[in-house]
Amino acid sequence: MKLTIFGSGYVGLVTSACFSEVGHEVCCIDIDQNKVKKLKQGKIDIYEPELREMVLRNQKKQRLEFTSNLKQAINFSSLIFICVGTPESTEGSADLTSVFNVVDSIAKEIKENKVIVIKSTVPPGTGLEIQSLFEHKLKNKNLSVQIASNPEFLREGRAINDFMEPDRVIIGVEQKSVKNKLLDLYSLLISDDKIIFMDMLSAELTKYASNAMLATKISFINEIANISDFLGADIDLVRKGMGSDKRIGFSFMNPGSGYGGSCFPKDVKALISKAQTFGYNPRLLRATDLVNRAQKKIIFSKIVKIFGDNLTGLKFAVWGLSFKPETDDIRESPSIELIKSLNRAGATVSAYDPKAINQFKQAMPKNQPLLTYTESKDLCIEGADALVVMTEWSEFQVSDFNFIKSALKTPIIFDARNFLEEETLRSLGFRYFGIGRGRNAQ
Ligand code: NAD
Repeated sequence: MKLTIFGSGYVGLVTSACFSEVGHEVCCIDIDQNKVKKLKQGKIDIYEPELREMVLRNQKKQRLEFTSNLKQAINFSSLIFICVGTPESTEGSADLTSVFNVVDSIAKEIKENKVIVIKSTVPPGTGLEIQSLFEHKLKNKNLSVQIASNPEFLREGRAINDFMEPDRVIIGVEQKSVKNKLLDLYSLLISDDKIIFMDMLSAELTKYASNAMLATKISFINEIANISDFLGADIDLVRKGMGSDKRIGFSFMNPGSGYGGSCFPKDVKALISKAQTFGYNPRLLRATDLVNRAQKKIIFSKIVKIFGDNLTGLKFAVWGLSFKPETDDIRESPSIELIKSLNRAGATVSAYDPKAINQFKQAMPKNQPLLTYTESKDLCIEGADALVVMTEWSEFQVSDFNFIKSALKTPIIFDARNFLEEETLRSLGFRYFGIGRGRNAQ
């Protein structure tokens, strides 16, 4: 089948690569001409395992092309996916400007009937709103547009695998013909029983509800970890005890410095905002968000507890800038807040990340003399008063901790992900501070 994909970001590019990989012909359009120029040359701005190879392979087979030409993209196929960004607006709702820009462009250029599938995360009701917008815009033309919702659940860092082998695919659709078209499209990728069909509103809500559930699990375990710290209990044991109950499980039950990324923070807030439009106060979602905001300050407060609140003259090495490993995405990364707080308190920071340094630099204030970046994790720690591990990149786990001890001024490690071996570090003479591992805190 032929399909057009609007947006070549994390979701648009992965969707384009994976659909072309299974044999569909894909035209991917982005308004960012520089991005398109690079993509045409096989250069990919974002880091996602296996993505580059897959894009190159399918470009070569001429099943995947990139363009910034609207006419070309819209006329390429009768099946269009919208995968553009829906960031947080100033009031916390989803900013749908890009989605509606795409809708306007299609309405202007359309010459044949189309099916438009919304893959971007949009508040419940958006699909129906777009449906009636097209009915209004096209009322004098003999053309029809049908809208479907197909929210995306991929995880950055595992996006290709998640897209090719999803737990389920959610499709919100109102017409049988559209349902059949999407069944055909996905039949090259997954078996029919993986697809859950429902109405558009329910599909849109399923996406937000899923992200809100995962975010709530994270905030819940973070809250328990904080209580554990006060009590002097051990969150690792508490987690083991809780997670062994099959009703609870272990996933998304890892304490840390708060969830980040381009989805959970904005999606929880957008769902709160949507609920409020009906006069409903979503207390649990608010608590999830509140706990998360506080959790982003947890490592800084642990540092202050040890070093005091005036950090002038001290240097902290920060390993890990992306919001999680295996991605260069730094949106809402807890490292942003930590480093800004350290700098505000007068501390110098030297920062390292295997993939995200360039993205991180763009998100931070320019000309900050207290912040430097290093090319390796070893250079990063030279002369630092403590090491802070913010993201659980596997290369951090296999470090030479004897070398680290000799390079640091004082052997202190803050582990924002509880992924280093606490006992080993203590036996090497480190003071170690994790999250909720209060039993051994010194
Ligand atoms: P992104 O910011 O990485 O990419 C969006 C792309 O859309 C950009 O390249 C931008 O230039 C392009 N764009 C904007 N307006 C356009 C237009 N009018 N025409 C063509 N291209 C346009 O965003 P993303 O992370 O890929 O997310 C896209 C959507 O998918 C969001 O709604 C997000 O919430 C959702 N989502 C993201 C993830 C994730 O892990 N990133 C996972 C699931 C769902």
